[in-house]
Amino acid sequence: MSQVSPSEFKIAVLPGDGIGVEVMNACIALLDAAQKHDKGPTLRMTSYEAGAQHYAAAGEALPERTLDAARNAHAVLFGAMGWPDVRYPDGTEPIPQLDLRMALDLYAGVRPIRWFPGLPKVLANERATDIDFVLVREQTEGLFYARGRGTVDNQAGEAYDTMQITRRGTERISRFAFDLAERRKARRGKARVTCVDKANVFTSMAFFRDVFNDVARKYEDVSADHAYVDAMALTMVAKPWTLDVLVTENMFGDILSDLAAGLIGGMGMAPSADIGDDHGLFQPAHGTAPDIAGQDKANPGAMFLSGAMMLDWLADRFDQPMLAQRARNIENALQMVLAKGETRPMEYGGSAGTRAMTEAVIAALPYANR
Ligand code: ATP
Repeated sequence: MSQVSPSEFKIAVLPGDGIGVEVMNACIALLDAAQKHDKGPTLRMTSYEAGAQHYAAAGEALPERTLDAARNAHAVLFGAMGWPDVRYPDGTEPIPQLDLRMALDLYAGVRPIRWFPGLPKVLANERATDIDFVLVREQTEGLFYARGRGTVDNQAGEAYDTMQITRRGTERISRFAFDLAERRKARRGKARVTCVDKANVFTSMAFFRDVFNDVARKYEDVSADHAYVDAMALTMVAKPWTLDVLVTENMFGDILSDLAAGLIGGMGMAPSADIGDDHGLFQPAHGTAPDIAGQDKANPGAMFLSGAMMLDWLADRFDQPMLAQRARNIENALQMVLAKGETRPMEYGGSAGTRAMTEAVIAALPYANR
């Protein structure tokens, strides 16, 4: 349901650490440039501190002021957070993105994987050019429920982490996946949601599957099936062009989304959105990549596509078709640059760093409105 549209949209920008900062600078430049090409609403983007480096400097990874800003913004644009060796006293890592997911109840992790010309052809099969699926990851429970709750009994030599699956959590993520499949049906002519689980071994996963089936029955126009997570790992490599929408628990989703990104050449072109009923946060699927940070080597493509996902979400939520057009312009400009091939990201063996990629995509914007 659309909400009353403001005259300008407040975007809380959280660049974070490592290449998060680099790809965020690139994305802000692109969003600003794209805004100048249309008469649509203005995005007012304000940066806030958070992340591992901020924790090292100031003693807090997600300051209250930043959390408030995220809560009060129309959307959150997020780079990446975390840094090797920056740890809390108990040895765990500051991971503010997980805290934000819980605080804003961002239960749906949406990770679209689509091949388009100019991306590496990782698989030999010709049909790999038809890869176009979305992984929907439950993000507020599952095995990640164990975060901060795990126990070690040194005397017994045992450690335990608990997986939590609730009816409410599974119903809402399943509904989200079916609603998404219905929207994709308009473009693809068919729709299918695959429940990815391990129902043959774990009681919690059998419960997940049962609840999924209950929801599936309410969506007559979308087909539903199931796959065990190990079999899905094979399908993703053997015939990923057969997939449409996948829904799975938190940990399986975490692992499969990196595998999925590998199908289109790596993390640099894999966007993601963390969606709840009241908030949306948009970030590349990759992390802070300490191995290439600070060297202008990061591919900003995933961040650009995450920015486009944010525009689409705002367009839908606030009934602003101009923002959806702006999202298409950004996607088209990026695809034109990659298809032309003159500017090729270092990630794919080319020579274009973050800045060169950004300049090329901005230069393509005037030709992207088609
Ligand atoms: P996290 O635990 O947060 O996922 P990570 O270090 O395990 O962090 P990434 O930061 O995503 O994982 O990096 C994985 C690999 O992918 C690294 O070799 C990194 O250089 C590469 N990589 C990630 N993002 C990009 C990008 N935008 N452009 C180029 N290479 C990237």
